[in-house]
Amino acid sequence: MQGWQNILKNSITRAEDLPVAFGPIDEGVALASQVYPMRINPYYLSLIRQKGDPLWKQAVPCLEELRDDVCFEDPLNEENLSPVPNLIHKYPDRVLFLVCSQCAMYCRFCTRKRKVGTSRMVITRESLAAGIAYIENHPEIRDVLISGGDPLLLSDEQLDEILTAVRRIPTVEIIRIGTRVPCTLPMRVTVRLAGMLKKFHPLYINTHFNHPAEITPEAAKACGRLAGAGIPLSCQTVLLRGVNDDPLTMRELMQKLLRIRVRPYYLFQADMTRGTNHFRTPVALGKEIMRSLIGHTSGLAVPTYALDAPGGGGKIPLLPDYVREEGEQLVFANYRGMTCFYDNSC
Ligand SMILES: *Cc1c(COP(=O)(O)O)cnc(C)c1O
Ligand code: SF4
Repeated sequence: MQGWQNILKNSITRAEDLPVAFGPIDEGVALASQVYPMRINPYYLSLIRQKGDPLWKQAVPCLEELRDDVCFEDPLNEENLSPVPNLIHKYPDRVLFLVCSQCAMYCRFCTRKRKVGTSRMVITRESLAAGIAYIENHPEIRDVLISGGDPLLLSDEQLDEILTAVRRIPTVEIIRIGTRVPCTLPMRVTVRLAGMLKKFHPLYINTHFNHPAEITPEAAKACGRLAGAGIPLSCQTVLLRGVNDDPLTMRELMQKLLRIRVRPYYLFQADMTRGTNHFRTPVALGKEIMRSLIGHTSGLAVPTYALDAPGGGGKIPLLPDYVREEGEQLVFANYRGMTCFYDNSC
């Protein structure tokens, strides 16, 4: 067994196994962990400083998960947009292909909370083959996003096999992998893994960090290895109440991502996923955070703030509004609020 698999094996999956150093644990932890899976591996656990901090909130179940009567099991209507199980075809030229039901940690805010890490998510050789066949039979698909769960929880051999099958399809131009492993279990990113992934270029990795305290030397090493293998890295961050919902935390996160060679890609407004209502924030706050980034720091550190439309409408960008008047003359504010003009009569 490889090192990372041993680490994973020692994960906390029950409330009573949380270290006593955190103090008394409220009963919601046990109750919620019976409904939605809990997995906190020793690495991520070591980053939690105290009960209720931003990393705790992402990892440790709580009673609010069971008190959500606002949100939906499958807010993005993924099940109805799946022509074959575990493949979501929502956009014209790309698909989301779910190849693993496990993750290195079960994030409390997960969009696929209804099934990730449970027996309700069934991935088999047959379902994988059906996904590959679907992509083969739909030449309009030029971009395949491999996700889950977390694809990097598969063994190198399993992942190699899937990537080989996808890469063999001539109409597939690019492959993307969505993985939270560089953040939640960076030791999974071995030299061997990076060497294997290199065979599948053009390959992109979208990772997922939500808080500056997740940018550790270990995470930097994992990202450095992937970037060193020529894989462009980007990040999909979720805007989460009590985790990163303030301009200073967000700016620090975005700047630190660039230092570990990860380009911020999306900042997602939290989905309306049942059991995650307590993480949601009003869109006005997201726009304010975007306003605090745009112009004030490197454009590279500015993600696209987007809302994945409930019902499966797709990702819609949400921008703070700089335009005040759009007529013969465009009147707009710059990032500092100064009024600017542009002749628009052309
Ligand atoms: C997010 C998503 C994609 C990829 O969207 P991009 O904007 O190209 O990153 C593709 N398919 C599904 C179902 C998605 O949810
Ligand atoms: S790593 Fe991604 S898929 Fe897995 S629990 Fe977290 S958000 Fe969900």
